[in-house]
Amino acid sequence: MNTTLGMGTNTINKHAYSFAESSKTSMLAGGFKSAEAYSTEQAVIPKSTIDVRDLNLWYGDNHALRDISMSVPKNSIYSFIGPSGCGKSTFLRTLNRMNDMIPDCRTEGSVQIEGLNIYDKSVDVTNLRKRVGMVFQKPNPFPMSIYDNIAYGPRIHGVAKKEISGIVEDALHNSALWDEVKDRLREPALSLSGGQQQRLCIARTLAVKPEVILFDEPCSALDPISTGKIEELMTELKNEYTIIIVTHNMQQAARISDYTAFFLTGQLVESGKTEKIFENPRDKRTEGYITGRFG
Ligand code: ADP
Repeated sequence: MNTTLGMGTNTINKHAYSFAESSKTSMLAGGFKSAEAYSTEQAVIPKSTIDVRDLNLWYGDNHALRDISMSVPKNSIYSFIGPSGCGKSTFLRTLNRMNDMIPDCRTEGSVQIEGLNIYDKSVDVTNLRKRVGMVFQKPNPFPMSIYDNIAYGPRIHGVAKKEISGIVEDALHNSALWDEVKDRLREPALSLSGGQQQRLCIARTLAVKPEVILFDEPCSALDPISTGKIEELMTELKNEYTIIIVTHNMQQAARISDYTAFFLTGQLVESGKTEKIFENPRDKRTEGYITGRFG
């Protein structure tokens, strides 16, 4: 890939992200091509899983998210990009109310998931977080066996004992980890490599059958091979789940996501099809960021 971006250069090159390369990956995995086909050939607007309206968030006096409105289509990968501190992770956390745990944090506006306003007082937050799972930057397996890490969620949600083994095996297959761990399920999860631990955390999330998976910079602690495996996995998982990823790696956003949102100082500057955002952004600030002028 011939790119000058992200290397501190001021050169503007709208085509610096090679879509030939990204569409090669996507065609294998059903990425841009199918998203394109969905909206143009069938002239259907993709069904939204998540619909955010006029969302504002404050940490004390710090107005960290300002008037965010956007929709996330079902079975897509949506990347959030923008410089550090612009509110990407904060916004991600609003989607399963992880910010509720932060003292002095206040949210206004609505976030609907499949039509349910998740900020409604009647919403059971534990159930919400089962529907909207999260994978963090640093793999965080529990200090227990590989098997028990995955069985943990189903057990606390009351799944019958006889079903647990099948769920564990399915989750490991679906996180592309089964072949690597099938003979060592009772070994400590912490004995796995960093990349395997991250796939284990994905398996743990899958085991409770979420609808949406939030990834907060899931590859930033991983080497390129492990990163490739996680990216490949995400493009497969989007057939079953809706995926949102915060990433600092713009090439990653270009490679794997169908849609991209660019944030700056708590505002959503621009969002839409990834190809459009990277090749022909509407806003000068988006262009400045993706061409490496700042951030
Ligand atoms: P990004 O993910 O884009 O790097 P963040 O969402 O982490 O941005 O941060 C957005 C703003 O919110 C920053 O000003 C940051 O200092 C503030 N912030 C983030 N997390 C917290 C927190 N737990 N408590 C107080 N302020 C926070």
